[in-house]
Amino acid sequence: MAGPALALAKVDRRYLQGQATLDILRGADLDLWPGQSVALIAPSGAGKSTLLHVAGLLEKPDGGEVLVGGEPTAAMDDAARTALRRTRIGFVYQAHHLLAEFTALENVMVPQLIRGLPRQQAAERSRELLAYLGLGERMTHRPAELSGGEQQRVAIARAVANAPGLLLADEPTGNLDPRTAEHVFGTLTGLVKATGLAALIATHNLDLAGRMDRRVTIRDGVIVEVA
Ligand code: ADP
Repeated sequence: MAGPALALAKVDRRYLQGQATLDILRGADLDLWPGQSVALIAPSGAGKSTLLHVAGLLEKPDGGEVLVGGEPTAAMDDAARTALRRTRIGFVYQAHHLLAEFTALENVMVPQLIRGLPRQQAAERSRELLAYLGLGERMTHRPAELSGGEQQRVAIARAVANAPGLLLADEPTGNLDPRTAEHVFGTLTGLVKATGLAALIATHNLDLAGRMDRRVTIRDGVIVEVA
């Protein structure tokens, strides 16, 4: 892909709270390039979740444009946004949100089956991904039989199952002990480099943020680079 995996151009997002208007994003710009991992660091309430929701096409901006893989989305209807989200964007949250009744393999297959891939192909791709993430021996285990770090690696495999160009993560290592967080983080950034994915990762972990390609924060409604 020649252009950015994600581009925000003059994005506005505001909420009404009683009589007051909260301007969370006010002309926010951001370009995220393939193969880049970018840390989003900002205090609670600054608008990290808002930014991830707008970038992930879960919320519409009140102004400006969000381009995913070069495609402008502002004028799209909900169906088109959902279709784009399913194929181009992967999400990882602080909690793994895996389906408890399904094995690790099945959890990674689900988004591919929803997209319409034949079962055999989905299983093959899922096995490859899980093996790559060091879970080759854990494929038939259910989430409850996996450690926190393993669960989160399955969630990462599921997020990239449809080979999205963009990965959005909200505190993906927030529930893990430091050593496990380190391992899961290594898995995530390794995957970004190996696949040319672009990742925007909200985190409070300054140590991990320091090892990403870029760090950004939200200040007065705009996105600014930090050292
Ligand atoms: P962060 O993820 O950085 O903690 P958020 O994006 O969740 O910040 O929230 C930013 C601000 O916007 C907060 O003050 C929050 O209360 C407000 N906010 C978020 N979502 C809504 C909403 N749906 N309606 C009203 N206010 C909201």
